[in-house]
Amino acid sequence: MKDNNFSAKCRLCSKEVAANQMLRHVKAHLKKASTADLTKPAYLLKIEAKYAPHYLYILVSGDMALYELDDFLKAIWLDCCGHMSGFNLPGRRTNNKLDEDDFGGLSMNLTAGEIFSLEKKLDYQYDYGSTTHLSISSKEQYKVKFPNRGRGILLLARNEAPVFDCGTCGNEAEVKTGGFCLECNYDGKSPFVCASCIPEHKCEEYGDTPFTITNSPRMGVCAYDGNMDNDSFKVIALPGLEQ
Ligand SMILES: [Zn+2]
Ligand SMILES: [Zn+2]
Ligand SMILES: [Zn+2]
Ligand SMILES: [Zn+2]
Repeated sequence: MKDNNFSAKCRLCSKEVAANQMLRHVKAHLKKASTADLTKPAYLLKIEAKYAPHYLYILVSGDMALYELDDFLKAIWLDCCGHMSGFNLPGRRTNNKLDEDDFGGLSMNLTAGEIFSLEKKLDYQYDYGSTTHLSISSKEQYKVKFPNRGRGILLLARNEAPVFDCGTCGNEAEVKTGGFCLECNYDGKSPFVCASCIPEHKCEEYGDTPFTITNSPRMGVCAYDGNMDNDSFKVIALPGLEQ
């Protein structure tokens, strides 16, 4: 993987920002967009893959429920074939003010406001077999007016799609044009194949066509093919933030 892949474009101003500067950058926008005449805060969350460098910054209104956040995460990063998923407090700690589900995780009906007014961090798992682990941290709260219906999840920043070297020829194997070969991966070889090497790539155990390289921590797991992770970039018109 090349260096600097994990900068991100800010979706409030379309500037490219280094990964370690992004929190400060989005905080400055949100502070400016904050307004005193709202009662309920929205929460700035950083969502990180535990074992991969991918990250997202989102702003979630306090009335959004965990099942809605779950749907968002599945759509942008995770859903391969409808596995179970769940949220819990780190270390499986409990908080008797927060409802639990039948498995000891947090109830999916809890809202962001109910949780993040009490807790700063959540863990999330998708698929209890080949699990993808995420950690979610609440960075700050803001009284910001949401566009449209006044509630929701705004994607503020997402790491730029990575570029990998093709295991055969060394050229760039990018998201969208390159492939990820599960068989090479299981054999401990570089799984990345560039567009021009795909026709010649002879592994067949998992099908002739390599999976797509994705901008997701789920890459190479189960049947994840990234069909849903190519969200379209658009600058968000946030009330109170003139472009
Ligand atoms: Zn910005
Ligand atoms: Zn699956
Ligand atoms: Zn190649
Ligand atoms: Zn292969």
